[in-house]
Amino acid sequence: MNVFLRDGDAVYRAWHTDGRGTEQLTHTFALVDLLPYGRQEEWQDSPRRLAAVARLQPMALRQGHRRPLRAGSAGLAISVHVRGKGMTDDLQPMPDDWTRALAVVAHPDDMEFGSAGAVAAWTGAGKQVGYLLLTRGEAGIDSMPPEQARKVREEEQHASAAVVGVSSVEFLDHPDGAIERSPRLRHDLVAALRRHRPELVVTFNHHDFTFTGKWNSPDHRVTGRAVLDAVLDAGNRWILPDAGAEPWGGVRYVAIAGSVRPTHAVDVTGYLDAALASVEAHAAYLAALGVPPGGARAPLEGFVNAAGQRFGGRPAVPFELIAC
Ligand SMILES: [Zn+2]
Repeated sequence: MNVFLRDGDAVYRAWHTDGRGTEQLTHTFALVDLLPYGRQEEWQDSPRRLAAVARLQPMALRQGHRRPLRAGSAGLAISVHVRGKGMTDDLQPMPDDWTRALAVVAHPDDMEFGSAGAVAAWTGAGKQVGYLLLTRGEAGIDSMPPEQARKVREEEQHASAAVVGVSSVEFLDHPDGAIERSPRLRHDLVAALRRHRPELVVTFNHHDFTFTGKWNSPDHRVTGRAVLDAVLDAGNRWILPDAGAEPWGGVRYVAIAGSVRPTHAVDVTGYLDAALASVEAHAAYLAALGVPPGGARAPLEGFVNAAGQRFGGRPAVPFELIAC
């Protein structure tokens, strides 16, 4: 269950998403406690930037909400940020001094759930963005055999990318759910960076936990770390000299999408419809998750509005930015 909260300091409106879809809850929760998740040093390192696990008092039950809040009533994972009253501006604007970006992620949909709005804003401003996927997401649909899912998800990823102005979509055909830190992966990533020569590299959260407090996917953890390493390797001509003709040391930033500790954000005002269309292009995948038509809108709005609370109130996509 994912719960998205916004508005107010003590009382929040919420949506929740589970296998049956997304709905806006018709009641309010009282946020009575905030518990840090993840490693304690992360909490101490940047308390204002940390998503938290909230302890939600089940006011809903008292207010006539009939569906019991499963175990969650004492510890739902949410994406609320620790803050005082009112908005903050602690997320910095993403740097703009680049022209080519390459997003390198594990699965179809990794870029869409959250980051598509930022990609739409970038391509709308004339920047080039390419997608490189390590897998075709063949293990992502429980009801569909991998041989079939591989084709469906590849098509959906191309459609999803096109909606936000991305025409270059490549797949490296590593196994979905079993990506390993192998010599092959290292070679593939270094070769891709030397081929595409991006100034900005985008990847997905490599931390142990997701921003909603769950244990992160092994594929995400492996991919994010491997991408960060490959950025270093790609610039050294003596490392993997057979992976591309020329080294590429021109990556200036790596932006981590879905990070537990974002530092920067992209204003996506005017790009929410494109972002939603990009998500909804994953139609078979969403259907398999039980998300009804239109059901992706509320979580997406909750996500960008939560970041907006830390970015001057503008809807935003947050990133952890690592300067290279
Ligand atoms: Zn993924």
